[in-house]
Amino acid sequence: MTYDPPQTVDLMHLGKPKAMSAHLFDDVIVDPGAESTIERVVEALDGRTPRAILLTHIHFDHAGGTGALVRRFPDVEVWVHERGARHMIDPTRLVASARKVFGDYFDMLWGEVIPIPERNIRVLHGGEEEGPWEVAYTPGHAQHHVCYLHRPTRTAFTGDVTGIRIDGGPALPPTPPPDIDPPLWHASLETVAAWEPERLAFMHFGQTTGDVMEQIATMHETLDLYAETARTTDAQGMADFIRGWVLERAGEEGLPTYYAAGPFEGLWAGLDRYWKRVAREAEVAGAEAHDEVVDASGEHRQDQGDESTPAS
Ligand SMILES: [Zn+2]
Repeated sequence: MTYDPPQTVDLMHLGKPKAMSAHLFDDVIVDPGAESTIERVVEALDGRTPRAILLTHIHFDHAGGTGALVRRFPDVEVWVHERGARHMIDPTRLVASARKVFGDYFDMLWGEVIPIPERNIRVLHGGEEEGPWEVAYTPGHAQHHVCYLHRPTRTAFTGDVTGIRIDGGPALPPTPPPDIDPPLWHASLETVAAWEPERLAFMHFGQTTGDVMEQIATMHETLDLYAETARTTDAQGMADFIRGWVLERAGEEGLPTYYAAGPFEGLWAGLDRYWKRVAREAEVAGAEAHDEVVDASGEHRQDQGDESTPAS
């Protein structure tokens, strides 16, 4: 059996080309995008009925329009990681917390988030193999992120793991809160690399062939650079840094599209949250080490574990 390459659908989010894309391939849709742009996907289907919608993760720019598609195609399967599934069945909490972040812009950005009937959901854990497809658990950007390999064509659908890369420009990591974890993200990049893909297809934007491994290598570097930068600056400092970094590599023409794919001001908070967690964990480890010293000295130990320490 021969396959055409995946079809990249430019979602023209907020009217901007080349910032957000869905992919149609074989009889599936990978990451259909937000409800506000779902008509683009329906048009691209051109009368075909999809068998399944494969979600890499549940962020609204990737998955917000899934419920709207299920309404249209009531038999379609929705593949999603176990840690994201319940939010697709009942998006109430997810939408409420996002409304706090996006305020009045929520509806314009993402549209309506429609619940998905449980019977449509196919819960993934990572490691599944079905027909031509293989699933890998790839946290780091989101704790419920998976990537998909289409084995016959060695195409990896990588969501946000392989970064934002516009028109063959530099790859940079989208790092919104709350799950950003650079060490896990590095491991997920290794997972994708181990597939030895010949093509990457991803949301921001389109497809990479020819220099797949270079993109992955760049992501390893950029992730470390951005994480170190975030540690020593604030949201505005981070945005300024990224703007300069992109400008140097993608020029004036590239800058607005990179910005549309992942507004730079939003990328500090996820890394900041990660560093705060690291600091908290170091504090807890330090306190435990202190307890051990006290124990070793034979003194009476009162505080068997500190219940007030927040769980991480
Ligand atoms: Zn995302």
